[in-house]
Amino acid sequence: MKKWNLVFDLELCTGCQSCAMAVKDEYVGNEFPGYAATMPLHGAGWVQIHAHERGRFPAVDLAYIFQCCQHCDDAPCMKVARNGAVKKRSDGIVMIDPALAKGQKELVDACPFHAVHWNEELSLPQAWNFDAHLLDAGWSAPRPVQSCPTGALRALKVEDDEMRRIASEERLQRLEPGEKHRTRVHYKNLYRFTSVFVAGTLVGRDQGLEACVRGAEVRLMRGSTAVGSGASDAYGDFRFDGLPPESGAYRVEIAAKGYRGKNVELELTNSHWLGEIRLDAA
Ligand code: SF4
Ligand code: SF4
Repeated sequence: MKKWNLVFDLELCTGCQSCAMAVKDEYVGNEFPGYAATMPLHGAGWVQIHAHERGRFPAVDLAYIFQCCQHCDDAPCMKVARNGAVKKRSDGIVMIDPALAKGQKELVDACPFHAVHWNEELSLPQAWNFDAHLLDAGWSAPRPVQSCPTGALRALKVEDDEMRRIASEERLQRLEPGEKHRTRVHYKNLYRFTSVFVAGTLVGRDQGLEACVRGAEVRLMRGSTAVGSGASDAYGDFRFDGLPPESGAYRVEIAAKGYRGKNVELELTNSHWLGEIRLDAA
């Protein structure tokens, strides 16, 4: 049985908000009986793009993350719903019934992904239902996917085994606690949201002159284990990304031809720029 999944790539998203606007355009002022009641014009959107900044000038990284109902296979909202107000369709989509869910505010707190929004005017919990009314009418993808100019969003209707293969091949991850709830929204390059980096710039000193050091060998050490290695670029910059936040003591070892080697110790809490590291001529 083929089921719907969504794949979002953080490296392709520019934060343009077209996807969020498309969902507003679809639901504000429109209702789709059996699928969704109208969405409020103001307040939290059912699909949201949040900016996530790491580091500090000049080593800054800005990424955007797509957030919506994760269409859990093991959905906490379904467990607290009364009268069958939340259903899991055979194609994987989770639907909050706009008639049966009336008054069931507890659905808002039940969702660990903060994807259920309370519509005060209608006294109704609401979440993005993957544009099920459009898919049932033959659309090949929901509106956020169709409106995305960069291809950051993909909708895949595939067997679960096939999705597992794609997830493994593309190193897709789930938002926490997605493994537990077997979510159907998958994230590529999630490290830009969940991890931290260490960066620095190498400046060589020779006879009173300073210049960027290109091609220096730089290793990131944790105790006696190298957890990363690379070379500085034409501007003397290096960066190690994908590190766990609050992960303690590291050492950056630098070896550059024509310069004395240097080690820099650091305590990693958050994304960190080591500044300009000066190397003396050998
Ligand atoms: S993300 Fe929240 S609203 Fe969506 S299925 Fe999971 S628990 Fe329910
Ligand atoms: S439309 Fe695409 S690029 Fe624009 S914010 Fe949404 S996911 Fe990102």
